[in-house]
Amino acid sequence: MKKRPGFPLKLEQFAPPKPVKTHPDPYRQLPKDLIAKPSAPMESPTGIGLDSSAVRARMVAKLEAQGIDDAMVLDAMGKIERHRFVDSALVNQAYEDTSLPIGLGQTISKPNVVARMISLLRQGRNLMITGKLGRILEIGTGCGYQAALLSCVAKEVHSIERLKGLHEKARENLRPMRIANLQLILGDGMLGYSDCGPYSGIISAAGGESLPQAWIDQLAVGGRIVAPMVNSNGSQYLLVIDKTPHGIEQQQLEPVHFVPLKSGLE
Ligand code: SAH
Repeated sequence: MKKRPGFPLKLEQFAPPKPVKTHPDPYRQLPKDLIAKPSAPMESPTGIGLDSSAVRARMVAKLEAQGIDDAMVLDAMGKIERHRFVDSALVNQAYEDTSLPIGLGQTISKPNVVARMISLLRQGRNLMITGKLGRILEIGTGCGYQAALLSCVAKEVHSIERLKGLHEKARENLRPMRIANLQLILGDGMLGYSDCGPYSGIISAAGGESLPQAWIDQLAVGGRIVAPMVNSNGSQYLLVIDKTPHGIEQQQLEPVHFVPLKSGLE
């Protein structure tokens, strides 16, 4: 049997998850007025644990007001310190509902979009293990923020990034958190990551024109893919794919804006 790569990071600081609220209609669209409005100025988090927790609590309250209602996702958003994943010059914007540059031309998505996508992943049919998602593949580690969130709501997370610079940055950002159930991989996520599949969920942070067949192949029956897709007119929407015993079901949801899914390593 092939030996799985070990997890380099240890998780210690996370409390046991709270009971999960599930939404009766997983395909519910978010309210139209959800588009981020410029937020009131916030105090700058200083980067030291508790100092930023009040700012984060306000971000979570705003997410809830915007319709994010999965308690486990909200809990993770309240715990993971987003300001640790952005450049020091951007720290005072870390808890605003805005996407931010993370280097090499890539961006970290708005908190609302991240929370929405993880909530959608959790609303699948879905191979939960004691209330958590099972094994998840994230395409596009970027700075590692979403990977850290996923590690709070899933048993096992494998996150793949094609840019060496960002793979290394994520490793550095995540090291102090010592997350035991997260593996970072340098590779082309268009090929998925067959070494550790099948996955109960695949979530992409980059949008392609078509869904790589490898993702469908590496998804377990009962599993779900949440990914941005690019239309023929260049606009993007959120695609949800469920692999059922009877075949593939798909839902096209709201418009989104992600960096492009590209092949090969750099
Ligand atoms: N989840 C990230 C978001 C990063 S932006 C975060 O929380 O920071 C999307 C990322 O997808 C970029 O870093 C980009 O390099 C990466 N990406 C694009 N195509 C990819 C591919 N084929 N395989 C792996 N990563 C890819």
